[in-house]
Amino acid sequence: MDLSITPQQEQLRETITRFARKELNSDLIERDRAAAFPHELWRKCAELGLCALPFAEEHGGSGYDHLSTVIAIEALSYACHDSGLVHALLAHLVSGRALEIFGSPELKQRHFPSICSGEKILAQGATEADSGSDLFSMRTRAVRDDDGYVIDGAKMFVSNGPVADLILALAVTNPKRKGFGAHSMLLVERERPGFSSGSAFEKMGLRTLQNSELIFEACRVPLGNLVGKEGQGSIIFTEVMDWERIVFGACHLGTLSRILEACVAFAKERKQFGQQIGKFQAVSSKIARMKMNLELGRLMVYKAAVMKDRGARAPLEAATIKIFASESLRSAAIDAVQIHGASGYMTETQIERELRDSAASTIYSGTVELNTEIISKLLGL
Ligand SMILES: Cc1cc2nc3c(=O)[nH]c(=O)nc-3n(C[C@H](O)[C@H](O)[C@H](O)COP(=O)(O)OP(=O)(O)OC[C@H]3O[C@@H](n4cnc5c(N)ncnc54)[C@H](O)[C@@H]3O)c2cc1C
Repeated sequence: MDLSITPQQEQLRETITRFARKELNSDLIERDRAAAFPHELWRKCAELGLCALPFAEEHGGSGYDHLSTVIAIEALSYACHDSGLVHALLAHLVSGRALEIFGSPELKQRHFPSICSGEKILAQGATEADSGSDLFSMRTRAVRDDDGYVIDGAKMFVSNGPVADLILALAVTNPKRKGFGAHSMLLVERERPGFSSGSAFEKMGLRTLQNSELIFEACRVPLGNLVGKEGQGSIIFTEVMDWERIVFGACHLGTLSRILEACVAFAKERKQFGQQIGKFQAVSSKIARMKMNLELGRLMVYKAAVMKDRGARAPLEAATIKIFASESLRSAAIDAVQIHGASGYMTETQIERELRDSAASTIYSGTVELNTEIISKLLGL
């Protein structure tokens, strides 16, 4: 397996790193406090093509393969300190995957130009108040009539929920079936009567990311808004989740490398007992572990991306990455606060935000516990 980086991929990494450092990091403490969606920065990201990274050129996208895409995301997440904004972009890209792979030519023609330009923001609604990990016990129903589907129900904790223009909603279309064949994916435009979104939840971290409830009250969409075939929802969702776990793995590693750099710099600069704190093994071993996890995680992510580029499925790799990358990130963020001492606990240093932002990584895209279950099942247990 060739994991070498081409000059074009290196160029992509450099371009995104330079852009993010220059454009995306100002006033971050205030932005985090305000917990508002940074529309202006979204627009700048869109201008650079970040809303179109993996989508095919024929759909108006940049046409990057999976490996280039994870390299780009890793670079963005490394250089952009606003993890909420990065999360919002990834929610957009991941939701677009469902539409690109399974959507009809008409749906793609209608929506992809504005998805790729960032003019329209995407979200994916799957979770409900009573069905999180047990997703397929969802209650949202889409009932077919002559010329469309009527959706009733509510989705929970949806990233980009309050700002999204287009929503990919998973709903039960065949309640007689349990599991496979019971669910379908439907595209819902914000302006459809019967659709509304709640206001953004206040949350611990990722504060510029907007998460909300989505409500469907006799919300009618035409038959043409069905993504894939009726009953194909769980297949679509599984395909999207595999990619989501790989993409967020790349994102976690980008953040981890930023945390690592900050810790190395601080451990060299801060002196106690007449020497750099990095000379104390109890400190340096924490940093060495961050580096080890970064290198291992990167291999896992790049390998899964190459598998995807070859047309393979990678459910085991995706679940493994999800657990390893999110736990590595979260433990690095905890260690980073510890290494920085009291200053790490203070808002000003911008280390505590990394801890708050990383805490959710072990929950979304399937909790680490759920992903452990997936691995066990794939091993036949
Ligand atoms: C920042 C953020 C962004 C999100 N974005 C979206 C989004 O865009 N779209 C969307 O649809 N959802 C989104 N979610 C929701 C997310 O997918 C769910 O939170 C997640 O699936 C877990 O569901 P839950 O919160 O209901 O927890 P629960 O499923 O109720 O789990 C509670 C605890 O029980 C454990 N548990 C549950 N079942 C098992 C089991 N079988 N074995 C072992 N342990 C188990 C879990 O691991 C967890 O520790 C987001 C969540 C967050 C925090």
